[in-house]
Amino acid sequence: MNFDNLYGPIPKVETHNTVRAFKEKDGRYRLIGSQCADCGQIWFPRRFICPKCHGQNLQPYACAQGGEIVVSWVDNMGFPTIGYEDIDDRLIAMIRLDDGIHIIAEIAECKRVLPKGTRVQLVIRQQKRDDTGNLVYGYKFKISE
Ligand SMILES: [Zn+2]
Repeated sequence: MNFDNLYGPIPKVETHNTVRAFKEKDGRYRLIGSQCADCGQIWFPRRFICPKCHGQNLQPYACAQGGEIVVSWVDNMGFPTIGYEDIDDRLIAMIRLDDGIHIIAEIAECKRVLPKGTRVQLVIRQQKRDDTGNLVYGYKFKISE
């Protein structure tokens, strides 16, 4: 008997890759993306091959640390999510940075939906616990003063 159809696909629990988390720390802490030296296009997260011109000549690029909200929504999974145990409702937003890059991130210290165009700035906050119990820090945004 095939139980795959009976119960459907088993959701895979998010796995934390320590090596990858370490290698991506510049992007997670400082929004370091990539800029193509051939066509000038900027990317975040970082790339190794330019999706636009297929060049391999990419340099680190520090993204703008401020931007404005395109759309925001309160995210509640409806059940305790692994690693985020002490956080229930989270305000997630798509943000257009000042250099044109779009990024989806959590808005810290705010739980209500914000209007389009609200100015936000980069902050570093605790994001979750990884599988080994260590705290993972990374970028979030907060409303600019
Ligand atoms: Zn390019």
